[in-house]
Amino acid sequence: MLQNTLSNKIYFKGIGLHTGLEVNLELHPAKENSGITFFRKDLNKKIEASWKNVISTKFSTNLGVDNCFIKTVEHLLSAFAGLHISNCDVFIDNEEVPIMDGSSKVFVDEILKTGIKNQIMNQQVIEIKKKVRFDCDYGYGELLPNSETEEGLNIFIESRFEGKYEDQTINIENLNGGYPSKISQARTFGFYEEIEYLKSQNLIKGGSLDNAIVIKDFQPINPEGLRYNNELMRHKVLDVVGDLYLSGFPIIGKYIGFKTGHYITYNLLKELFNDKNNFKIINSN
Ligand SMILES: [Zn+2]
Repeated sequence: MLQNTLSNKIYFKGIGLHTGLEVNLELHPAKENSGITFFRKDLNKKIEASWKNVISTKFSTNLGVDNCFIKTVEHLLSAFAGLHISNCDVFIDNEEVPIMDGSSKVFVDEILKTGIKNQIMNQQVIEIKKKVRFDCDYGYGELLPNSETEEGLNIFIESRFEGKYEDQTINIENLNGGYPSKISQARTFGFYEEIEYLKSQNLIKGGSLDNAIVIKDFQPINPEGLRYNNELMRHKVLDVVGDLYLSGFPIIGKYIGFKTGHYITYNLLKELFNDKNNFKIINSN
């Protein structure tokens, strides 16, 4: 597989989910081997989309270098990973990526409309060679090598919602190609009882029923209902795909998780890169 970038520039305008700030976002084609790079236009600084630049994972994945922040990067990164965009320069004039409709659908639709450009160099991928695991007090995540019959990235997640929603599992086999229809439309979600707490933490200032599913008594209070019957689990997969792209490469292997979130996936990446024997960077077929 060749590396890819965008055929042309794309512009978005929206608000940050947590900061509530208005933001202009521009996606520009980028040269080979440059990866995904964020540029803060207002500060004239840049931050690479790398797990090494993660500064916090509380309710979103946030990057920071020298007092320059790019917050809530996971849905945009998920769109790039899902569409195999290897190289892109992301210009932003404020500190949080706009939430759009709460999923990665708007990014995916616009990228597909604009076009994806094959580049000349081959795409490298990370192949998982050894099991890596991260545990915390409420859940865990694992990265494992694929079995002989498995291809691409396979994701199996189990969740418990502590009596606030039906416990669910999801199994996505070889995501390759299925991302726009299976995953990209799944919106972020929250629980009605937690809204006041999140607001007290200075979060979700830009949150509304236009960009998040809100669950009360096991049901969404959004008038339009759910886009998939297991939309919450599909959004968890969307987040995993986005957070894993902070590795800098597509991943060939299996992700297994229980009650996963940004904190678990980020720490799992740290574990992965802790030992060179855990993975191999190879040319894709
Ligand atoms: Zn999310």
